[in-house]
Amino acid sequence: MKTKFIFVTGGVLSSLGKGLASASLGALLQTRSLSVTIQKLDPYINVDPGTMNPFQHGEVFVTDDGAETDLDLGHYERYLNAPMSHKNNTTSGAVYNSVIAKERRGDYLGATVQVIPHITDEIKSRVLSLAEGENAPDVAIIEIGGTVGDIEGLPFLEAIRQLRSDLGRDNCLNIHLTLVPYLRTAGEHKTKPTQHSVKELLSIGIQPDIILCRCEQSIPQEMRRKIALFCNVDQDAVFSSVDVNNIYEVPLKFYEEGFDQKVAIMLRLPAHNSRLEAWEKFVRDCANPRGSVTVAIVGKYVDLKEAYKSLHEALQHGGAANRVAVDLRYVNSETVDSTNVDTIFAGCDGILVPGGFGYRGVEGKITAIRYARENSVPFFGICLGMQCAVIEFARNAAGLDGANSEEFDQFSAHKVIYLMTEWFDFRTKHVEKRDAASDKGGTMRLGAYPCKILSGTRAAEAYVKPLVEERHRHRYEFNNDFRELLAQKGMVFSGTSPDDSLVEIMELPGHPWFLGCQFHPEFKSRPMDAHPLFREFIRAADKRAKKG
Ligand code: GLN
Repeated sequence: MKTKFIFVTGGVLSSLGKGLASASLGALLQTRSLSVTIQKLDPYINVDPGTMNPFQHGEVFVTDDGAETDLDLGHYERYLNAPMSHKNNTTSGAVYNSVIAKERRGDYLGATVQVIPHITDEIKSRVLSLAEGENAPDVAIIEIGGTVGDIEGLPFLEAIRQLRSDLGRDNCLNIHLTLVPYLRTAGEHKTKPTQHSVKELLSIGIQPDIILCRCEQSIPQEMRRKIALFCNVDQDAVFSSVDVNNIYEVPLKFYEEGFDQKVAIMLRLPAHNSRLEAWEKFVRDCANPRGSVTVAIVGKYVDLKEAYKSLHEALQHGGAANRVAVDLRYVNSETVDSTNVDTIFAGCDGILVPGGFGYRGVEGKITAIRYARENSVPFFGICLGMQCAVIEFARNAAGLDGANSEEFDQFSAHKVIYLMTEWFDFRTKHVEKRDAASDKGGTMRLGAYPCKILSGTRAAEAYVKPLVEERHRHRYEFNNDFRELLAQKGMVFSGTSPDDSLVEIMELPGHPWFLGCQFHPEFKSRPMDAHPLFREFIRAADKRAKKG
């Protein structure tokens, strides 16, 4: 097997940035001409995060193959510039699900099914599946969710402990990310939490090879020696992961530390020189914008920025492509109404309504969209945002009183957005993975679908190609019964499914930039390759900002 494995565990507390650290290390190894993939192992019982509330777990990231995954996969895609798939995210729920299914089928031939070896074998086979096939990567980074010491994470840790002897020492590396706090009153970094966390790891049989210390400021040499001594690692195997302003600086900081160099040496990887020019240029451009734009995000999950992770990133990428800083103003749509809409959006150069589910806050979104349409403020509607734009236009520009989405009003006389069940008959690609239609999520259109772009439109101006592929996650669709009427009133359907049966993009000509899409373009945006729609939206916002 040519693939080498790097296991990344976390200690002390959560939210230390294991996902970003894994993605950054992956990106650095890629700059050394190595092929890299990353997998996230999540210890919770949900089979996937698809059914989890974004308030609790942040964004659900959707892959091309229609998997609903952890938001860290978004970081992996953005840093590696490569698509992830269902294989890159596994949960305890998914592991148990398949072990229980095998047990029911009788595959275990009467054996007592246990955590060790059955659950751990299932975990190992999912990890090792990354190394199968002709295109097996040189390096697979496996990020274990949660914190060492969590009861639910034990089977995963046991599996990686076993993998070390299965695969051999030269083929595996354990990296432990911990917190090294700086106590201002004492004037020094404190290493005790790290020592305890490594002790915890050792108690389950895992000796880390590298300690990565999240810290406010770089850790002095004598502290690194102390950590190395207490945690049995090489003196040059303790690295700082300092707080940064721009998350895309992390690979550069790691490089300065010599982190990837040490990894390459320990894993005996062919050591090509790193080529970091593209990263350096991107970070430099971000730090030196030529101007700034203010974009309002009108949504329901505004208190938890993690819920709009990819969106946030895509807007920054769009800003970088135009060399402007993007200041985000999160607006809770429940607070918006016709009496305060002018005040709330005063000074905004663009308004974006993202995806979402449920009626709460929808009327506020519609009010915000009307404001954008009537005041020539660049508008970008994504998924639910597009649906709301259609409702707004139907009500206020086409005279369809009470127009609504079937999701919010089953008895509306004008269901301009409706539950299109027909597509199940011919689009079973992603539905197969769920067993029953009653399964929540089983009715969703998920993953990548082609979209035909109409020439001479804003969409065509952005994409510059006639056929694109974008990722979906929704149940409801534009209702074709209203296509003719809304077109007469000025709506242009600039993106459709290749057979013309589904509206994927709508826009309003005559407005500086007013576009809604049924898919989620934010999932495919990359730092050095901003998504065309985000790039163009920010360009329009910048034009408005310059006018003043
Ligand atoms: N709730 C809408 C639907 O299911 C939109 C979903 C979304 O924005 N992701 O179609």
